[in-house]
Amino acid sequence: MKSFDLVIIGGGPIGIACGLEAKKKGLTYLIIEKGPIVNSLFNYPSNMQFFSSSEKLEIDDIPFISKEAKPKRDEALEYYRRIVTSNQLNIHLFEKVEDVHKSEGAFKVTSDKATYSASNIVVATGFYDLPNTLNIPGEDLPKVSHYYLNPHYYARQKLAIIGASNSAIDAALECYRKGSEVSLIIRGPEVGQRVKYWVRPDIINRIEEGSIKAYYNSQVKEILEDQIIIDTPDGEIAIENDFVLALTGYMPNFEFLEKLGIELSKDEKKLPSYYPDSMESNVSGLYLAGVICGGMETHKWFIENSRIHAKIIIKDILRKRAGEKSS
Ligand code: FAD
Repeated sequence: MKSFDLVIIGGGPIGIACGLEAKKKGLTYLIIEKGPIVNSLFNYPSNMQFFSSSEKLEIDDIPFISKEAKPKRDEALEYYRRIVTSNQLNIHLFEKVEDVHKSEGAFKVTSDKATYSASNIVVATGFYDLPNTLNIPGEDLPKVSHYYLNPHYYARQKLAIIGASNSAIDAALECYRKGSEVSLIIRGPEVGQRVKYWVRPDIINRIEEGSIKAYYNSQVKEILEDQIIIDTPDGEIAIENDFVLALTGYMPNFEFLEKLGIELSKDEKKLPSYYPDSMESNVSGLYLAGVICGGMETHKWFIENSRIHAKIIIKDILRKRAGEKSS
């Protein structure tokens, strides 16, 4: 069994930042990622543009050069991939961590391929794997997806988009412009207030001119092969439909966190417990990094404000090691 000072679970931007910082500070480390490098970003919409400007997505001040101020997904893939390859980070791809067990002061990490021993663990598993489901009849039909990739697929199709936040609004505008007949089903009374300030007027104008049909204060009740049934303030209606994009957000894998012994707050936020000064969780030697720290508040942490976690964690590991040596 190979042993490391640190095993990092998740090769997203923040897991990679942790690996880079560990390498710089001379720690032995391994990043284990269940997909390709920055798997979540790889699965983002192909034309997506970050709301952050590129320098705010940089790791360790390594310049991120993009054509426009705010980079596109492909530019981010290029950037984070180059960080991994140029720095020869120790990363295992397409390997999924299934269990972490602590005994006699060390962690035993079990993946679907091997078992490792580690003095410390960083959990940086993000939240993009598990969609918030609608739990309605028809949700499992092949025409329904919780992930939006490319507008081409929906051209000349009747597309219902459920949601009112950035992902739903970006998809609605893009698909409308590529020839889809878009209906937006919005649970509340308006387009989300967190929608990017330069996008919000665009969608509101498209709705007001009738190019995109919005159903406010409405919820999809059932999805059928060629229709959807919507509960609206004017009663139940059925509209013709070819495809449904349910872009209602995602959530961290709480079951995995609990299996690792991480305590979650009892309220609906399900905040994992950690000390902000060190990012160490209630399990000694097990740290949390990146968006996972926000529990159900998935908008709270993002690359821009969580990339700092890497330095905080490695500093704490080094501090503890120095303490152990001197005692
Ligand atoms: P992730 O990037 O989600 O990485 C977690 C990784 O863990 C994944 O690669 C996953 O495959 C892996 N993993 C999960 N479970 C396991 C397991 N058991 N074993 C091994 N690997 C595992 N943030 C910004 O700062 N600026 C922006 O402009 C911005 N725009 C965004 C636009 C969209 C459409 C979306 C959805 C998000 C955006 N974000 C933005 C948020 C940002 O992408 C996330 O905050 C960021 O990906 C978080 O990085 P992370 O490393 O914490 O998690």
